[in-house]
Amino acid sequence: MNPNGDTRSQVISTYHDHPRFICATCSAVLALQDELISKSFSGREGRGFLMHSATNVKLGKKEDRPLLTGVHTVADIFCMGCNDRVGWYYHKAADLSQKYKEGKYLLEREKMVKENNWKLDE
Ligand SMILES: [Zn+2]
Repeated sequence: MNPNGDTRSQVISTYHDHPRFICATCSAVLALQDELISKSFSGREGRGFLMHSATNVKLGKKEDRPLLTGVHTVADIFCMGCNDRVGWYYHKAADLSQKYKEGKYLLEREKMVKENNWKLDE
């Protein structure tokens, strides 16, 4: 999929009853509170949240990237509503201790807004 293509019409917004993260730019739902694994990650531009799943995102090119915890095979993820880069997806971790991240999403805190009665503290 071309991460720069126009995918606005594909944005899904059927999560009205759930506490969620929405895109700070276009308000597309990016993830649900229930899918949060950890808030203590580092994104490229500040804090990052590790999530089981993300929605309304599309994957960019796969690449090997040296992160704080070693080299990971990741792909940047882009909001389907506005094409803004909102984090990345972990395809593979080189280090055994980091394998739990595979198949998970790192969302940049700066790119998201909390909506709908979040219960978790900052
Ligand atoms: Zn957006």
